[in-house]
Amino acid sequence: MLRQRAEDVTDIDARLVQLCDDMLTTMYEAPGLGLAAPQVGVQKRFFVYDLGAGDGSQVLINPQIVESDGEWEYFEGCLSVPDMGFDIVRPKRVHITGVDLDGNDVSIEADELLARLFQHELDHLDGVLLLDHLDDDQRKEAKKTLRKRAMDTSDPALPEASGSFLRFR
Ligand code: ZN
Repeated sequence: MLRQRAEDVTDIDARLVQLCDDMLTTMYEAPGLGLAAPQVGVQKRFFVYDLGAGDGSQVLINPQIVESDGEWEYFEGCLSVPDMGFDIVRPKRVHITGVDLDGNDVSIEADELLARLFQHELDHLDGVLLLDHLDDDQRKEAKKTLRKRAMDTSDPALPEASGSFLRFR
């Protein structure tokens, strides 16, 4: 499911509003900064997010990155590889458009962390996972850790993410 390209949202109805509400609950419990619909088994193009900067929870429907520039390295994590993070280089700034839950057009110029969140969640809508962004060494490291985990479930002393680690889910 996480590998498919999700479909555009055609109707913003009560069901979608309820779903966003449920996803936000899941996201805050995780805790994560964002959660895309395919991660809860819904193949639709929308995600919820909250950077924790005081703007509250947000929903972006049918998002599209219309422009991006710069380069920025950031230690990025994801639900698909729990408690692991990787330094990933992506564009530093993106201009994203979409629709909010009221059906209004949204246009956001995002930088650094917010730009990273948008790119990460949009990847989920396109069926792209964090592991697809790793270089060969990072991929080997990830496989080794995942293999060790699978074999040695009794060892709780695996490297955990640090406090500053921001997980997008
Ligand atoms: Zn993710």
